[in-house]
Amino acid sequence: MSLRRAQTVVVGGGVMGVAIAWHLARRANPITEPVVLIEKSALAAGSSGRSGAILRQHYSDRELAVMARDSLRVYAGLEARTGRSIGFQRTGVITLAGPERPETIALVQRNVAMQRSVGITTHLVDAAEIRELVPDIVIADGAVGAYEPDGGGVDPVRTVEVFATLAREAGGITRLGVKVEAFVVEGDRVIGVDTAEGRVLARDVIVATGPWTKPLLAQIGCDLPLSVVRPEQHFLALPRVATSAASDARARLEDSVLDRFGLAHEVLPPSAHPVILDLERGFYTRCEGHAGRTRVGRMDYAHDDEVPDPDAIDERVSSAYVEWARRELTARLPVYTDEDDVGSQVGLYTLTPDAQALIGRPRQWRGLILVSGFSGHGFKLAPSVGEGVAQLVHGEPVTAFDEAFFAPDRFAGRAHAAPTGAFGL
Ligand SMILES: Cc1cc2nc3c(=O)[nH]c(=O)nc-3n(C[C@H](O)[C@H](O)[C@H](O)COP(=O)(O)OP(=O)(O)OC[C@H]3O[C@@H](n4cnc5c(N)ncnc54)[C@H](O)[C@@H]3O)c2cc1C
Repeated sequence: MSLRRAQTVVVGGGVMGVAIAWHLARRANPITEPVVLIEKSALAAGSSGRSGAILRQHYSDRELAVMARDSLRVYAGLEARTGRSIGFQRTGVITLAGPERPETIALVQRNVAMQRSVGITTHLVDAAEIRELVPDIVIADGAVGAYEPDGGGVDPVRTVEVFATLAREAGGITRLGVKVEAFVVEGDRVIGVDTAEGRVLARDVIVATGPWTKPLLAQIGCDLPLSVVRPEQHFLALPRVATSAASDARARLEDSVLDRFGLAHEVLPPSAHPVILDLERGFYTRCEGHAGRTRVGRMDYAHDDEVPDPDAIDERVSSAYVEWARRELTARLPVYTDEDDVGSQVGLYTLTPDAQALIGRPRQWRGLILVSGFSGHGFKLAPSVGEGVAQLVHGEPVTAFDEAFFAPDRFAGRAHAAPTGAFGL
């Protein structure tokens, strides 16, 4: 690497690293103080490339809902703004609670009230309205949903590539296939990184290395409360019955619900139903337009095996998981009963004790910014993280996220509780 001095080094080319590099590069002088992103493998090689990339605003914490709201605007408007597609699909999102668990219904009701108070378009819908939005769904009377018509998802790999391209176009430098081997330290300050291609000195080093963060930081005595697990994911073919006739019928039905809420009507892409976060049956599902498949994942971390070494993941998906995913999905949406299994995959979640990320400067080290531990729900937040970290680097008040909420030292001296509120719910 010929370059020896940078304004900022960003380590990691997942969605966080590229979003940060993009926001920083827009403000940097590319000649005198460039932003350099260093990725050991390829863009989106870690958690980001395997992400469900669901964009919902339904959170229990105001801090997260606000970030999801702001980031959704960036995702939804990116193509119009830059001419580059990230595969954005506005399918709507329904967070579903069943009548057997009144506490979950109360949570959804509370969340909707909080989200509406911060300007998020979301509505409580009853069982009849949910059946109009998803004609094939099997739900009990008394079920309640939170319906966000603006939510949906993106193609995660294309999104990471587009953010990296925008960073480069703004003068940022991306070095792929280059591993950060060690930090360069001077007293209590991190002043750069060492790679096989040489040393890069920088005013700030940002560590956005996802599942690899704990071992990397251990090198400088930083013991972070992070653990890595491997969630299993299963995919079915998109439902064939959603032909144009069926989607016309759905469009008519959806119209009536949307009219009731005074919303503009948009027809869902063929074969797509809204993203469903099923708090009753414990799964989430998304029709992935970019991949022509429907994803099924679990709504908790309890079944995910811990991964000692993210470079040696067991890629096998158990038959028990595949059976469970098919059973839960078809019980809710029988339209999938005759659809083929089209693949399975494991991913990597980097968990913290409270299932919220570590973002900011650890007290122990100057010149270092941590951005990790998104606990399986970070993709949708990346634009806000990018903007907020750029504000932090420039010594500005951070308005894009709540610094105290994500403070990396918040667990210091406290016993580590088991993760609660999986996925911020
Ligand atoms: C199966 C699955 C489903 C998900 N679904 C959703 C969802 O629907 N919605 C949502 O919002 N979020 C979702 N998430 C979570 C989201 O994808 C993650 O929070 C996010 O992708 C984390 O991005 P990251 O950049 O922090 O980490 P990563 O994407 O893991 O990136 C880290 C990068 O750092 C690089 N690296 C590591 N060490 C070094 C080194 N020493 N030198 C240089 N480079 C290094 C790695 O190669 C990697 O590319 C999901 C995650 C998974 C796994």
